[in-house]
Amino acid sequence: MKRSLQQPSRKIKDVRHTTELSSFIPDDADEYRESLLDILERMDTGYWPTIEVKRGWYQLISELNEKLSNQCQNYKIRSLKSSSHQLQFHINLNPSDENKLQGLIKEIMYAIARSQHICEMCGVNSSEKISEEGCKSCGQSGTQVKKRRNKNVSED
Ligand SMILES: [Zn+2]
Repeated sequence: MKRSLQQPSRKIKDVRHTTELSSFIPDDADEYRESLLDILERMDTGYWPTIEVKRGWYQLISELNEKLSNQCQNYKIRSLKSSSHQLQFHINLNPSDENKLQGLIKEIMYAIARSQHICEMCGVNSSEKISEEGCKSCGQSGTQVKKRRNKNVSED
């Protein structure tokens, strides 16, 4: 690991001071630029503002963000990434918005389920789980191999 823990936290501070969040928008954002900037602006204080998913999911996370912000204008994002070909999306709410939590979780769970069927690389939709089977369109591999090795993973 090249980065020490000190470095990013100092940079987060800089980001918050200068609000240069646009420099964290992925280069391939294209039509999702605005949405991804909104997502970055929602990153909770102290959390590294990055979009840790690939282009194929930009639409998915943009739609999710729109639904969540419609339900709760001030919701914050703690992390947004891909883990074992599945979307991981952690949020934080103001105490006064706690009553909206269930509704938000429902949307997030739906997006997570969808993420398993959308190729993170090329964005292709599949009726099969791309997370497991891989993508026939671009050749991105799934987790089947990993699953066979790891008996702890059992979900269907
Ligand atoms: Zn693909």
